[in-house]
Amino acid sequence: MTAAWQERVSLKPFNTFGIDVDARYFTQAHSDDEVRAALASAAQRQLPVLVIGGGSNLLLTQDVDALVLHMASRGRRVLSEQGERVVVEAEAGEPWHPFVQWSLEQGFSGLENLSLIPGTVGAAPMQNVGAYGVEIKDVFAGLTALDRETGELRDFTLEECAFGYRDSVFKRTPGRWLILRVRFALARTLQAHLDYGPVRQRLQEQGVEQPSAQDISDAICSIRREKLPDPLELGNAGSFFKNPVVSAALSEQIRVWYPGVVAYPQGEGQVKLAAGWLIEQAGWKGYRDGDAGVHRLQSLVLVNYGQASGAQLHALARKIQADILERFGVELEMEPNLY
Ligand code: FAD
Ligand code: NAP
Repeated sequence: MTAAWQERVSLKPFNTFGIDVDARYFTQAHSDDEVRAALASAAQRQLPVLVIGGGSNLLLTQDVDALVLHMASRGRRVLSEQGERVVVEAEAGEPWHPFVQWSLEQGFSGLENLSLIPGTVGAAPMQNVGAYGVEIKDVFAGLTALDRETGELRDFTLEECAFGYRDSVFKRTPGRWLILRVRFALARTLQAHLDYGPVRQRLQEQGVEQPSAQDISDAICSIRREKLPDPLELGNAGSFFKNPVVSAALSEQIRVWYPGVVAYPQGEGQVKLAAGWLIEQAGWKGYRDGDAGVHRLQSLVLVNYGQASGAQLHALARKIQADILERFGVELEMEPNLY
């Protein structure tokens, strides 16, 4: 079955930066069959295909001379329950946060720290989404993807996804795998991850001593609503840079000049630096050039005040990268996917 294609469609409503570029063609896929049909028609016309979910990790720097295939498949289900362990599955187009809420309503824990992340289930494995000390790799039970080179379906295990920090085999081979559905191993009893200070502190303020998974989710949602700009009000793609992992020696060198450097040891002589802290120290917090800027509360988030182009935001990102390299000797890597 083939869903209709539209020509020259503005992608402004389909990316959280709110960048106004056009797709040459645009269609949606609600099922595996529609995915296959769209890919086959595009191949026949020798058109490249850009697959998107919620557009919350994209920086579009130009019109997209391709078919943009928006994943709109829906469905979530319990696949198996064995004592404590429950395996659930969701289709790629399921919006992430409602899926997390659904899992909590079923009494399953494991996804609570990943509450209120925008986007879709199908894109979550792309960068092994993570927040507040949990990444999807911690609860991952498998996924089914379509190999766009051969048209074959393939099930991936945890090892085969090669998840890393905001990274995966899917991110490293862009355009090869189209993720159709993802499975998660959840639990009936909560194993709370409360290492991140603000979450513990918020629960304490609320007088919650033995938090449930829903309590943790609620606390994280309230922190995120205070700290992060809502893309519906101010265009953004969340953290624009990954936190750099550097040698302990470089981290100590930085500490000589900046005793307050925010650094988390990662073992094996490696240290993760908070990119937001570096950017703030360099004076970029609240910076604005035209409609492209750095958020006034959260230096890691670049924002579009209205009419910024992707190219303007990219230019600002490159200026910040150059400045951080010069000041601290640290290379910042962009997190969103650039087109
Ligand atoms: P898109 O932006 O649509 O796509 C991202 C990439 O995945 C693109 O390369 C696209 O081609 C590809 N893709 C999309 N769907 C598929 C599919 N089904 N199969 C194959 N490839 C696909 N990220 C975090 O990790 N942690 C956070 O805490 C976090 N917080 C955020 C907060 C805000 C306010 C915002 C705006 C973003 C945040 N993000 C965070 C980034 C983003 O929400 C996640 O990376 C999310 O998983 C992206 O999902 P999406 O559906 O919007 O993907
Ligand atoms: P924060 O709490 O102000 O902390 C700043 C940075 O320090 C974070 O990036 C985090 O790294 C790191 N950190 C804090 N406590 C840590 C601990 N106990 N152990 C190891 N590292 C620690 O961060 P924030 O900006 O408000 O974000 C909160 C969480 O949401 C973070 O996990 C962040 O990654 C996630 N988030 C991600 C995005 C995105 O787009 N990717 C957007 C918003 C929020 P990590 O980032 O490695 O966790």
